Amino acid sequence: MRSLDDFASQKLAELDAAHLRRALVESVREDGLYITRDGRRLLSFSCNDYLNLTHHPALKAAAAQAIELYGVGAGASRLVTGNHPLLHELEARLARLKRAEAACVFGSGYLANAGIIPTLAGTQDLILIDELAHACLWAGAQLSPAQTLVFRHNDVTHAKDLLARDRAKFRRALLVTDGVFSMDGDLAPLRELGALCASYDAWLMSDDAHGLGVIGDGRGSAFAAGASADVPLQMGTLSKAIGGYGGYLCASRPVIDLIKTRARTLIYSTGLPPAMAAAAIAALDIIESDPALTRRPLEKARAFAARLGLAEAQSPIVPIIVGEPEAALEASRRLAEQGFLVAAIRPPTVPAGTARLRFAFTAAHPDEEIARLAEAVRALAAFKPARKEPERCPPS
Ligand code: PMP
Repeated sequence: MRSLDDFASQKLAELDAAHLRRALVESVREDGLYITRDGRRLLSFSCNDYLNLTHHPALKAAAAQAIELYGVGAGASRLVTGNHPLLHELEARLARLKRAEAACVFGSGYLANAGIIPTLAGTQDLILIDELAHACLWAGAQLSPAQTLVFRHNDVTHAKDLLARDRAKFRRALLVTDGVFSMDGDLAPLRELGALCASYDAWLMSDDAHGLGVIGDGRGSAFAAGASADVPLQMGTLSKAIGGYGGYLCASRPVIDLIKTRARTLIYSTGLPPAMAAAAIAALDIIESDPALTRRPLEKARAFAARLGLAEAQSPIVPIIVGEPEAALEASRRLAEQGFLVAAIRPPTVPAGTARLRFAFTAAHPDEEIARLAEAVRALAAFKPARKEPERCPPS
């Protein structure tokens, strides 16, 4: 239709003019480190495959065997016929790792957040959300009729002020935050937020997509500070350190039972394929038996940050903020010329004015390549050693 095509063309032209059009570039990964793009093999610092498990023989064998036995897809929603016993086995393993009573596995992390939040917060309820929370936590909040208030990034005092002012006006309150912030690599103050929520009868939910497997001896961000923080709702994904696909929530038995009967993204979406559950179980075997492996991505990130005089990395994610989208794209191109794949992250994924290079370190990145990468970064025109504070506005 003419008006529809005109609308799309106009939007694309606007995005092109602002250097904000996103390209889906064909990428082939034949191992857990390198990517082939446009015929070139690049060492990737842009995969969330923190433990390089996507290509691990044990995961491949577990998935292949499950496909052979149970087929490729789940065939239906879990509430109909898609509830394979492997999903229950995986839920028990996740709950054990997170020291929770129970778990629920979803089709993806995005689906998990889009299902959990509206199930727990409805009309007359309050959602408090960190301004830099991941897009799918925002999506979950937007799917709920609850009132949503935004607190400044990692600012416990601001969250407290909002609760002190407004908590009594609402029936229930849910506070949501990333455990590890995906674009800044910093950690949420979960211990302090847990204490705050306890004192205002609010429920704390963390998205631990980037914490599981790499922080807190592999148990995630709630365990990062040594003693565990009180986080009754620990959500995460199977698509990063776990090396596969899928999402999950770990919580108490009644909460999980409620989610399984009410979360719309679980009920009305096809179940996770059994082979993905089999691969995730194999990944958890590795994570539980090899704590040294789980520490390696952070060690690599710290070594890189130290070489460039950046603040100590708190997670395997290290951002270098360059400002404008064009500068980030140019810096990414320069690094590609030297054999490195480092994605330029631009608005709306990050706030305007904070386009950046985002480096994600994995257990298997060779130290000498990290040293070479740091030298290449140092030579970039866009590199300024001091980290800029991100602007205070929520990603759209
Ligand atoms: N939360 C965070 C913090 C993420 O970074 C991501 C993935 N980019 C998700 C949730 C979504 O997880 P999934 O890829 O499993 O949908």
